[in-house]
Amino acid sequence: MRTPIILGNWKMHKTLGEAVEFIDELKTRELPESVEAGICAPFIHLSDLVSGSKETSFGIGAENGHYEDSGAFTGEVSIASLADLGVNYVIIGHSERRQYFAETDEAVNKKILKALEKDVVPVVCVGESLEEREDGSYESLIKSQIEKAFANVTEEEASRVVVAYEPIWAIGTGRSATSKDANDMCKFIRETLHSLYNESVAEAVRIQYGGSVKPENIKEYMAEKDIDGALVGGASLEVDHFVALLEGAK
Ligand code: PEP
Repeated sequence: MRTPIILGNWKMHKTLGEAVEFIDELKTRELPESVEAGICAPFIHLSDLVSGSKETSFGIGAENGHYEDSGAFTGEVSIASLADLGVNYVIIGHSERRQYFAETDEAVNKKILKALEKDVVPVVCVGESLEEREDGSYESLIKSQIEKAFANVTEEEASRVVVAYEPIWAIGTGRSATSKDANDMCKFIRETLHSLYNESVAEAVRIQYGGSVKPENIKEYMAEKDIDGALVGGASLEVDHFVALLEGAK
């Protein structure tokens, strides 16, 4: 049995004060024990959020990280230093980073390998554009993204990776994929993992759906066999909504 996992992706939202207020409020809520929960926040908030969430059941994640441990990379933050801070997750290859910051499959792969080495859970995002969905090339694209992401990841390490299937046309648009379409793609990703590794890895890896998930539709996705949770942007910004997502995922 795979533990459901709901992660918030705050993107470039919230001041430090707002972030701390959210965490302080979340700490007062009773969260379902059967669902793993985490908030991925801007770098500058992470130190406060990690200390503020000690002895809680939810984790804290970064939205990116660099694969080199240190060096002349102005403006970057290493996954090694995130691990040292006590961060639990790192989002890798989000479509906004691929699109606006030229993040390549090769960089995604290096970041996954570094996160695994440092014991931070990599949450690797894959997904197609509207054009790729409509011209039918989406399966080969997702297969290639998965194959490149998992290059040199050992069988033992692979089960620790979380995959987020996020069709770009569904992110922040309110146009969510149907639960059947989302499940078909999560199943396809699982089959790809099966062909890369074996059944036990394919059955162990958690695959999230992401793209306009909200409290009103989370249950539909969670009812699907191959969807193990969600990576959520907009609906993770309010405590009530985030808690409702966790409730809907249990
Ligand atoms: C995301 O940021 O990964 C995302 C899925 O955003 P939203 O839930 O707002 O569509």
